[in-house]
Amino acid sequence: MSGAQVDRLEALARADAVVAPLARLQAEALQIALDPQWSQALSPEQVLAIPDEPLLHRQRLALDSHMVVAALHALLDVAIQAEIGEVLAVRDALHTGAFDPLALLQAGVVVDSPQLTRLARRAAVAPELLTTLGQVLALPLLHACGEMLASRAATRDWAVGYCPVCGAWPALAELRGLERERWLRCGRCGSAWKFPHQRCVFCGNDDFRSLHYLAPEGQQDALRAECCQRCRGYLKTVATLGALSHEAVLVRDLTTLELDLAALDQQYQRTRVLGFPLVVHLVARD
Ligand SMILES: [Zn+2]
Ligand SMILES: [Zn+2]
Repeated sequence: MSGAQVDRLEALARADAVVAPLARLQAEALQIALDPQWSQALSPEQVLAIPDEPLLHRQRLALDSHMVVAALHALLDVAIQAEIGEVLAVRDALHTGAFDPLALLQAGVVVDSPQLTRLARRAAVAPELLTTLGQVLALPLLHACGEMLASRAATRDWAVGYCPVCGAWPALAELRGLERERWLRCGRCGSAWKFPHQRCVFCGNDDFRSLHYLAPEGQQDALRAECCQRCRGYLKTVATLGALSHEAVLVRDLTTLELDLAALDQQYQRTRVLGFPLVVHLVARD
C-alpha cells in the first residue's frame, strides 16, 4: 500500500468532525502497517486451512515488542491531537507500566471485552476508549496478515459469514461489477470473500419473506442495509466497480453512518464481537 492510499481517510477526517478522530486513528494505523516487520509475525506456510476456522485461529504470532510500543505511542499521539478525552491517562499508565502494550494488542486482535475492561481499569480510563485503541492497534497486524493470506482466503471453500482470516463479521458487502457479485469485506484485516445473495451472513437465513433492506430514497441499487428479521442483524451493502482497498472499506463504513442509524432505529443490530471465537497467541520475539 502506498502512503497516498490513506489520503481518503485523512480527507474524510478534515470534512467530517464526527468521524474525524476514528478516521485519523485508522489512517495512522494503515500507515503503521506499511512497516514490513508486521508481516514477519507469521509465515504463511505455518497456516493450515481447517474447515470453518479462520486462518489465524490458534496461530502463534511473534512480534518485536518495541514495534508494538512504537505503534501504540504513534496512535496515542494522534488521539491526543484529536483531543480524545482520557488519552493522556493511557499514556501515563504506559509509562508507569500499569499495562503491557502486547496485552492490549492481544485483546484487540481477539476482541476480548473482559480483558479490555480489566486493562481500562488498570489505566483508570473508560473501557470504550481502550476498546477503540485496542482495535486500531490490531489493524496493522491484521492488515499484514490479511494481505499475506489474501489469495488463500479468496480461494477457500468458505460458506460462513465471518472472515476467513480473522473471524470478524464483515464491515460491509460489495455488489461488485456488472455481474453484481456479492463479496463480503472485513474491516479489520481487509479480506474479501464471496457469499451467496439473499442469505443472511449472520444466521444463514435464506427465506426471502424475512429478509429485506433499508435504503436512502432512490439509491437502493448503490447503497442499502440488508436486514434479517430472524436474527435482527443488518449488513451495509455498496455497489462497486471492483474490489475496494482496505482503506476504502473503512472510508465507506464511516461515510454511511446514516444507514446504521436508520437500521438501529428499526431495532436491527450491528454486533462488534467476532463471528468466531478466535484464539491467537501473541509472543514477543525479542
Ligand atoms: Zn478479517
Ligand atoms: Zn439473520
